[in-house]
Amino acid sequence: MLDKRSTYRLPWSMNDNPIAWIEVTDICNLQCEGCYRQHMTGHKSLEELKEEVLFFKRWRNPDNFSIAGGEPLIHPNIVELVAFMAEEGIKPIILTNGVALTPELLHELKQAGLAGFTMHIDSHQGRPHWKDKNEKEHNELRQKYADMIAAEGGLYLVFNSTVYPNTFPEIPDVVSWAQANIEKVQGVVFITYRTATTSDSVATDTHDQQIDMSKLSYTSKSFDEQFTTAPEVYQIIKDNCPEYEASGYLGGTIRHDSFKWLVGALVGGKHQMYGSIGKTTMELAQTGHHLLTGRYVAYLTTAKVGPKIFLLSPWDPILRQAWKNRIKDVLRHPGRLFDSIYTQSIGIIQAPDLQPDGRADMCDSCPDITIYDGKFVNSCRMDEYRLFGGFVSVTEKKEEEPEEEPEEMFVK
Ligand code: SF4
Repeated sequence: MLDKRSTYRLPWSMNDNPIAWIEVTDICNLQCEGCYRQHMTGHKSLEELKEEVLFFKRWRNPDNFSIAGGEPLIHPNIVELVAFMAEEGIKPIILTNGVALTPELLHELKQAGLAGFTMHIDSHQGRPHWKDKNEKEHNELRQKYADMIAAEGGLYLVFNSTVYPNTFPEIPDVVSWAQANIEKVQGVVFITYRTATTSDSVATDTHDQQIDMSKLSYTSKSFDEQFTTAPEVYQIIKDNCPEYEASGYLGGTIRHDSFKWLVGALVGGKHQMYGSIGKTTMELAQTGHHLLTGRYVAYLTTAKVGPKIFLLSPWDPILRQAWKNRIKDVLRHPGRLFDSIYTQSIGIIQAPDLQPDGRADMCDSCPDITIYDGKFVNSCRMDEYRLFGGFVSVTEKKEEEPEEEPEEMFVK
């Protein structure tokens, strides 16, 4: 069972965080169900984006830029922006749906200094020709991009998917596919879907004025399924892959017991997963990286770690178990002694949860903070700033009181 005491609280904060989230456009070439961005302003100029890069460098101390949107690959200056980030010494990672990715553009981006991709693929994106296919069938699409990016070489690749109540049981299909491709896929991330329902909620802005919440893309008229939580996603992965263990977390900004980010890293080879890293290795990776480079880390430069990772086994009981499994495997299959050993991360993100008082439990030390109007705001709620000037509060609609007959005030 998940316990915060056996998981490392990632040391990230507002001003010292490995991730800087930069949105280059709000235009997209798909219309995913779980998207939280509206098309309102279009592409940002290259000059504006360079200013944001420098702002993040000054105030955030990032190790990587998550270049997001909209769809970043349709921005006309994406290659120049990647080159500028690389020159500034911060790893550029593009978050994309892949639709606009061609081998030629991929090569140009790599030459410009791209470090990798986080590719969002799931069955609720309404992709032409993929509409009625489930998550397992979408592995074919994941495979196409994994092969294309591996053929270019030297790029980090993580697959994201939003988890809806009806795709929750299919999570193990995505995890197993990723494990079979451990040489090409460095991680998978599952983001649980959340929506506010307009039929039973009312929303107010920072001045306590009621607003039309249907203007926000992450609201729906009604939703009668149960939302999935991060611990439930953790459990279904664990039930199907006992080698998986979460080693790092971020809690909530309101609730003491929430797990908003859960991060784990499997250790294995192309034939078998041996186990995971534990809390101690995660702590050493974060603090060691910070000591050496001055920054915390979210994306490693390589997932091919080799057997040296097991040198940390004496201090890490979870990793020690992985090492024992590795020894057993080699004794059974001596030919695997020289097989490469990789890590593959599994991340779980539980999007903001509305509390009964109208506030939302956000990710503590939000790694996906972006810039709006010269300030840091959580990227998942930036449209509330763009439309209503700040966070909105959502509370349950009260039953309307039946109008009472006015009482006689005066007796003649
Ligand atoms: S609070 Fe931050 S990390 Fe959490 S879902 Fe929102 S943007 Fe992402």
